[in-house]
Amino acid sequence: MIDVKDLSENIDEVLNYKPTDTPVVSLYLGVDRAKILKQEYTTVINSMIAQKKNELEQLQVYSASQKKNIYDMMDAIKLYINDYFTPESAKTILIFAKEGKIFSLVRLPYILKPKIIVDPKPHTQILRSILGNIIKYGILLLDREKAQIMLMSMGEIQEYLDAFISDVPPKVNYRSQLAFKEKNILSRIEEKLHHFFKIINEKTLIHLREGKFDSIILAGRRDIVSQFYNYLHSFIQQKYIGSIAAEPDDLPHIIRDKAKVLIEKHETEQKNKFVVKLIDNYCPQELGVLGVEATVNALMLEQIKTLIYNNEFTASGYVCSECGFITLNKEDSCPYCHKALTFYSDITDEIIESAIRQGCEIVDVQSNERLMQNGNIGAVLRFKIEAVGEYNTR
Ligand SMILES: [Zn+2]
Repeated sequence: MIDVKDLSENIDEVLNYKPTDTPVVSLYLGVDRAKILKQEYTTVINSMIAQKKNELEQLQVYSASQKKNIYDMMDAIKLYINDYFTPESAKTILIFAKEGKIFSLVRLPYILKPKIIVDPKPHTQILRSILGNIIKYGILLLDREKAQIMLMSMGEIQEYLDAFISDVPPKVNYRSQLAFKEKNILSRIEEKLHHFFKIINEKTLIHLREGKFDSIILAGRRDIVSQFYNYLHSFIQQKYIGSIAAEPDDLPHIIRDKAKVLIEKHETEQKNKFVVKLIDNYCPQELGVLGVEATVNALMLEQIKTLIYNNEFTASGYVCSECGFITLNKEDSCPYCHKALTFYSDITDEIIESAIRQGCEIVDVQSNERLMQNGNIGAVLRFKIEAVGEYNTR
């Protein structure tokens, strides 16, 4: 059985892969629970693999043994998807296989086109753009005697960044102490705690400045967390999104699940604010567009800074299979490369993937009423629309 947790830890190997003669299989598959049933995506993967095998048979690029190796990898992926895989919160999964076996699986938060790529190295272009887009949360779990910082992104705790231990005595035997000594001991404990909190604060600030995470969550018993909050450097306070109640020895998945709730609430608020800003500020200033037609046009002109869409959004259109040109209206051929355009009943993933390739920031919102009333999709532009017109007439 394949352990998914272990597989997602191989992401560094994927990103730093040195090409060899042994082909690597990269496979994208849409698995969004809200949109696609298991039966449907297993059908997609079967036909996609059958088609790729056909192509490879005709290409004559690979030797018989290389081809056997590639087919083994495809079969391993198929078996894994059929028998072991559950989508959880992933919209698309990206699977990498080498030497006959799966070696990494990444759960992606966006809907992307299904495809298989066979190359001397993993296909990482989209992954790199997405990783640059993803917010990393530092979770600082603290107690009077120990603390640690965990890095959470894409819904999972990815690594432990740091750990701290204080030499504050865990228990004081008050009964054996004389009353006049008690006060001194207490103040000594408070002094050590003060020292401990100061160290945590300084180290956290260093991690934040080094870009290890973008936002911070405090976790621990309520009284400790509120006490520590006052120690936070103002720069850390700006990045603070909230706290979760936790015991110092809580298991990682408990912390993760509590953090997930907080992060989701925070991100939903941020996204909703962003919709308001797009409609009320950017659009009147001609720095924003709304609706699928205006958004696709801006995307084709590489004007988009941030793409925003409701998750329920769909639209039909035409796509050039050669250069990726997207249009809503039927045209005889692609205006850029003159190849034929193909009809798609849903061009959502084409739009998102094109935006990711251009390095746009991607914001997906869930059932935002205001965005729904304004065409379900929109974008903040890199520069004013009128500036483009002037430039073109020159
Ligand atoms: Zn084209």
